[in-house]
Amino acid sequence: MKIRDVLKNKKTGVSFEFFPPKGADGMGPFIETVKEFQKKHAPLYASVTYGAGGSTQQRTMETLLKIKETTDLNVMSHLTCIGATRQSMDALLKGYMEAGVENILALRGDPPKNMRDFDLTKGEFRYARDLVEFIKKYNFFSVGVALYPEKHPEAPSLEKDIEYAKMKVDAGADFAITQMFFDNCYYYDFMDRAIAHGINIPIIPGIMPVTDFNKIKEFCSFCNATIPESLSRKMLPVLESPEGIRKTGVEYVTRQCEDLLENGVKYLHFYTLNRADAVNEILEPISKLLSATRG
Ligand code: FAD
Repeated sequence: MKIRDVLKNKKTGVSFEFFPPKGADGMGPFIETVKEFQKKHAPLYASVTYGAGGSTQQRTMETLLKIKETTDLNVMSHLTCIGATRQSMDALLKGYMEAGVENILALRGDPPKNMRDFDLTKGEFRYARDLVEFIKKYNFFSVGVALYPEKHPEAPSLEKDIEYAKMKVDAGADFAITQMFFDNCYYYDFMDRAIAHGINIPIIPGIMPVTDFNKIKEFCSFCNATIPESLSRKMLPVLESPEGIRKTGVEYVTRQCEDLLENGVKYLHFYTLNRADAVNEILEPISKLLSATRG
């Protein structure tokens, strides 16, 4: 089912993001994790990431097909366009159509880490907006885009970033998922700016469970997400204890999700990192809030 229709039909719900499992042995346990999520949370959809520069193209497709084959979940492929040609994109999208993958998260992507002198201006697609326009021509897919409550790291200002976001949405995006954030003020401010700029598609907050604080700090430094003082303070007494960090992180993110739901947010998108435990712990106490309005 197309996500734009899912979001019309469901008043509230959660979605889960996965990366393609590694190695031949990885798929079995991965699918068990996906099934567990399906059973416990009846997600709106499951999405699978796409490695920089298309590096996981085949594994992304295999993972999507396996999820489709073994569950009845709606699936979405992430898809990046830098470095791709129109011809290669056409072949890929036709493959998705044949496989019945109806949802695409259209992204620009980042240059592969081993190609520091990569020239973003030389490709056939420059921005995610170009990919949205390209995909819309097929008249088959529901298209999502990424948005950045604290602005994309390359954007010169919040104002410019939201103007570009509006262009990306106007190209035909049906919904958006945000970059992770840990202070809901950034999301609420962003929503005010988005509405003021006439962006009126669903903007689903991207939620990152905090289980390894050092890793989170690393992610945040390259994706321009702020670690709030309040989270750092809570972590301070437990920094020597991995279990203490995990417990504190899960409590923090649970409260973050509660606050979002209490303030009218309808959908939550979880960056699962292919692990069920922390996401389940976060969702358990808030399931009442979610089911209170479940469509
Ligand atoms: P764009 O929307 O093209 O924006 C990129 C930059 O260009 C921004 O700074 C923007 O302000 C600027 N810009 C846009 N339009 C214009 C214009 N007309 N003129 C001038 N500047 C402009 N990466 C992966 O490799 N694989 C994944 O699976 C993946 N999944 C993701 C999922 C989510 C929910 C999110 C939030 C990000 C994901 N990413 C993924 C990361 C993403 O590819 C990077 O953040 C990338 O740097 C930007 O992609 P974008 O689609 O937002 O780009």
